[in-house]
Amino acid sequence: MLNTNEGEIQLHGIGGSPGICIGKAYLVGKEGVDVVEKYFISEENLKKETRRFRKAVKKAKDELCSIIEQTPKKLRPHDSILEAQMVLFKDKMLYGKTIKTIEKEMVNAEWALKKVVSNVKSMFDEMTDTYLKGRAADIMHVSDSIMQNLVGSEKEDIAAIEKRVILVAADLSPADTSQIQLEKIMGFVTDRGGKTSHTGIIARTLEIPAVLGLDNASRIIKNDDIIIVDGTKGIVIINPTDKTLIQYEERKDRYEAYKAGFTRDSHLPAETVDSVLFQVMGNIELPEEVVSVIRYGGDGVGLYRTEFQYFNRLDFPDEHELFDKYKDVVEVMAPRPVTIRTIDVNADKAIPYASDLDEINPVLGLRGIRYCLKKPDVFKTQLRAILRASAFGKVRVLFPMISCYDEVLHAKRILNQAADSLDKEGVDFDKNMEVGIMIEVPSAAILADMMAKEVDFFSIGTNDLIQYSLAVDRGNPQVAHLYQPLNPAIIRLIKHVADVAKDHGLEISMCGEMAGDPVNMTILLGLGMDRFSVNPQSIPIIKSMIRLLNVEDARLFIKEVLKETTDTGVTELVHNTFGSIIFDIGYTEL
Ligand code: PEP
Ligand code: MG
Repeated sequence: MLNTNEGEIQLHGIGGSPGICIGKAYLVGKEGVDVVEKYFISEENLKKETRRFRKAVKKAKDELCSIIEQTPKKLRPHDSILEAQMVLFKDKMLYGKTIKTIEKEMVNAEWALKKVVSNVKSMFDEMTDTYLKGRAADIMHVSDSIMQNLVGSEKEDIAAIEKRVILVAADLSPADTSQIQLEKIMGFVTDRGGKTSHTGIIARTLEIPAVLGLDNASRIIKNDDIIIVDGTKGIVIINPTDKTLIQYEERKDRYEAYKAGFTRDSHLPAETVDSVLFQVMGNIELPEEVVSVIRYGGDGVGLYRTEFQYFNRLDFPDEHELFDKYKDVVEVMAPRPVTIRTIDVNADKAIPYASDLDEINPVLGLRGIRYCLKKPDVFKTQLRAILRASAFGKVRVLFPMISCYDEVLHAKRILNQAADSLDKEGVDFDKNMEVGIMIEVPSAAILADMMAKEVDFFSIGTNDLIQYSLAVDRGNPQVAHLYQPLNPAIIRLIKHVADVAKDHGLEISMCGEMAGDPVNMTILLGLGMDRFSVNPQSIPIIKSMIRLLNVEDARLFIKEVLKETTDTGVTELVHNTFGSIIFDIGYTEL
């Protein structure tokens, strides 16, 4: 944190989505438990205080009751968890002890609840039994809902925000971020998150400036503070001086003019100086985003992250609903291809109604294809919808989080079952629909030669491949400096996969954020990538960069790159070799 003149404060974080916005801060999702203050209650007011606590408990209980009533019958296991939570409202450990603490220590209800909960939590933390640990999670849920009623904070509904503001939060989940309405939200800043966290990815798709990984912005920034968000440089300025405001207004105009320049050329093909044509496609999360892919000159949708259609609802979408959405995208893009990735749920993209997991390491847990193979009905429903959409254009299916060979066979078996069932019903679909896998777990990269026998294409997901290869949480700002796309280990892994793909005559594409940085093109072309899929707003700059490069030179350059031992060594080599091209693109100057 930098305190500059006249009370202006500068915070430095990670540029999550480029661009500049200036406006009023709107704080969301302050976790009640963390902001609780302690104050003493006089003896005559103690009864009133315990009554206030009981009222908050009753309200939380009523709310849970109505959630249970609304939960569809087929979600029984989820229901029983809610019922177990219901019992906890009257539990001695929580309810009884909080009332006792209020009375004995003569403190406010929030403080008493916080104290009781942290005692209970440390007790459960020492246990190894997973069932009991699950109960600890229930207690946290129940106490959070009581706390929310005590402090009077409603659960934030981002979709319902009325003013045009800049969101400030400790963290925003991908599900929250996908609800953002562009006419209300100018940008956002969060304490957590990194460049390739899903929250950052969505900000880029929405084209709103975002700074992430600020550590404690949500504690420093107050509601209605005027803030500047510089998503290109990763800077947030609180209460800027007039001079700073003018400077940033000018930079904002410059950035917009720069972006418009690239957009003008976005329909030109991505053809290198030595006449090699590359496909540059767009990544989308929601069907509406196809419009951006077309506007920015995308050659298709290279990654449709379908899990977003499963968020912010009470039950799984059915086959018709999914089919309708896929068909819309496929028809709008036709004849350009659409690669539909099957749901990559869990980890940071958990669907509350779908599982009651309490995983200690969710990123290494029941995520992506692992979840689908455990829930064949959910998987088959989606596969039938994808197959049906394939009758309306060029559709390819892509399986995420493949970590071993068996998973590919198992996923294909279920795909065949879905195809057979449609065949029997006489429903039309593309019988030659291509099947691909994400290469985003190191074991899949290492086994690429085996995998290649089973699929039609590979798509390298560098966001996770880097996370899992370098053991760096992609959303943790503390280790963001170790999240290195140009680490020699990553370059070697990509090279291995690309070489295997070439040997087997397989198409190889990259859909991770690494492909959205024009500087990386100098290396990726030389490694032998066939196509790229990037955030729609990055399509124009990536195409422009490709037009300035020469594949033959890039191949020779890789020989030099492979001699480097560190990511800084690679970065310096790239800048020393391609400095003038990178300067022409103007990318680093904004
Ligand atoms: C990736 O991991 O690179 C990827 C494209 O998938 P996601 O970002 O959705 O995890
Ligand atoms: Mg991934």
